[in-house]
Amino acid sequence: MTPQQARAVYRALYDCWGPQHWWPGDTPFEIMVGAILTQNTNWSNVERAIANMKALDALDAERILALPEDRLAEALRPSGYFNVKARRLRAFCAWYVQEGGFEHLSGLDTETLRKALLAVHGIGPETADDILLYAFERPVFVVDAYTRRIFNRLGLLEEGLGYEEIRQRFEQALGPDMACFNEYHALIVQHGKTTCRPRPLCETCCLGADCPSNPLQDSGSES
Ligand code: SF4
Repeated sequence: MTPQQARAVYRALYDCWGPQHWWPGDTPFEIMVGAILTQNTNWSNVERAIANMKALDALDAERILALPEDRLAEALRPSGYFNVKARRLRAFCAWYVQEGGFEHLSGLDTETLRKALLAVHGIGPETADDILLYAFERPVFVVDAYTRRIFNRLGLLEEGLGYEEIRQRFEQALGPDMACFNEYHALIVQHGKTTCRPRPLCETCCLGADCPSNPLQDSGSES
């Protein structure tokens, strides 16, 4: 993927969908909680779980740790896998408090912070990068299943590439541009949810003119 190709897809998606205003959340900590809860579920379920946490006045690492585990799990129930997520969230909060919270963690360089996040129970690369990009505002490109699907279909990423390889390709193509990474990931999610779905809606796709997977491409010129 060349820088020109990466930027051209970005511009087309932005022109199509406009700014996405990510990540929804009132504080960096709320963004981190959302990044953990959104694993394997959709955002509306996360919003309900976060609303429950707010109703308990528990959207704070120390208050989460002080909640009985069953109460925390009950609050997280709308986000699915709530017992697993309660354990993950508690593990994350224990680490967060032990490391001195946002103020101390903000002082770490991105690679150190990324490694530390990946060492926390239940935090994989996508969740770590969501937290780095949207809560700590670091120039880290988030890769998800939508990214793979859209860019495989566009012929800009080969099938079977690992997470790190894909992340590096985007970061090399785009340069360390936090604002662009923020918007680009959100646009990819929007496009993957609405248009480049498992069964793609190529006839309405803003990337269709340059997509080798579009069955309608050039159909007009062949008649
Ligand atoms: S043209 Fe079709 S396959 Fe290609 S990106 Fe758009 S929706 Fe996906």
